[in-house]
Amino acid sequence: EEGRPSSVNPVSSNLPRASIMAGPELRFDNKVVVVTGAGGGLGKAYALFFASRGASVVVNDLGGSFKGEGASTKAADVVVDEIRAAGGKAVANYDSVEHGDKIIDTAVQAFGTVHVLINNAGILRDISFKNMKDADWDLIMKVHVEGSYKACFLRRCCCNAGWLLQCSKAAWPHFRKQKYGRIINTSSAAGLFGSFGQCNYSAAKLGLVGFSETLAKEGAKYNILCNAIAPVAASRMTQTVMPEEVLANLKPDWIVPVVAYLVHESNQTENGGIFEVGAGHVAKLRWERSKGALYKPDSTMTPGAILKKWDQVKDFSSASHPDGPADFMGLLEQAMALGSNDQ
Ligand code: NAD
Repeated sequence: EEGRPSSVNPVSSNLPRASIMAGPELRFDNKVVVVTGAGGGLGKAYALFFASRGASVVVNDLGGSFKGEGASTKAADVVVDEIRAAGGKAVANYDSVEHGDKIIDTAVQAFGTVHVLINNAGILRDISFKNMKDADWDLIMKVHVEGSYKACFLRRCCCNAGWLLQCSKAAWPHFRKQKYGRIINTSSAAGLFGSFGQCNYSAAKLGLVGFSETLAKEGAKYNILCNAIAPVAASRMTQTVMPEEVLANLKPDWIVPVVAYLVHESNQTENGGIFEVGAGHVAKLRWERSKGALYKPDSTMTPGAILKKWDQVKDFSSASHPDGPADFMGLLEQAMALGSNDQ
């Protein structure tokens, strides 16, 4: 299918697609793609795109406000109607991602399985830490972290008098069984760098990076690849925090191609990555570890001894880029061989 001209695309021209092919046309025929929060913003752009490239799409959206209040079937229905009107395949799901397993049930009932899961749904409860209420913290964790987890993992089995009545499965077991799965978790610059008034959102969004990094390690041998993105795009979420002229240049459509590449079968290697995407800029982020300082681990390892070598601790001139913990046994051996920290 690589390089297949758009003229043989089975879906009519109403859906967005690359106008001029700048590279192969990556298609998603026979793939089932689940997009959470697909009733608007980035999620809608993903859903329209995947449908235009031949995928069967589950359009999930709770249809509430950007603060997580209320619910409506309209948001998802509008997107499904648009996809179908253009000749694409889509079904709606209106569950909150807090019940993400039900969203996967919709995919399995409608299309038999799931190949791609885009954990995108999100809300904001911005407030300074001083004024934050438990409810602001809890809801953000529930929607972003638990929502992403629930779509990936098993529904709790429902038991009656010790007998298993039902055990419906979310995406992960399907991915493992078919030895194919692609997951995108949606992080944020707020999580990576911190952001005033968003400590709940920041904690959740960086939590999703750790979630992705671990799923990437556990999934690799089953051809399940998981990456995280930190997007910047115009949506109802950003319309109050960015000026109009900036938003005009930050289309969700410019996040879509990066996500589409990462979840396409042609991506066999990019796994556990963090990508900043927006305004036509795509960059990969990674962890950096300073060479650090070594101290003899004995009673001379005092706070004063730490201070003496603090410049070495924070010196990034000979830094490395780890994807796992330091080799503590090797370091310990070197540290034991040192003389006293008094010297
Ligand atoms: P958006 O508000 O336009 O879209 C989010 C969608 O998720 C909405 O349609 C909403 O109804 C849906 N949703 C909310 N809670 C839900 C729930 N519990 N269950 C199911 N659906 C739910 O915002 P957006 O900008 O498109 O955001 C998409 C994702 O990108 C979010 O995770 C957001 O945190 C993240 N993000 C966006 C930006 C940006 O610049 N727009 C920046 C960083 C991160």
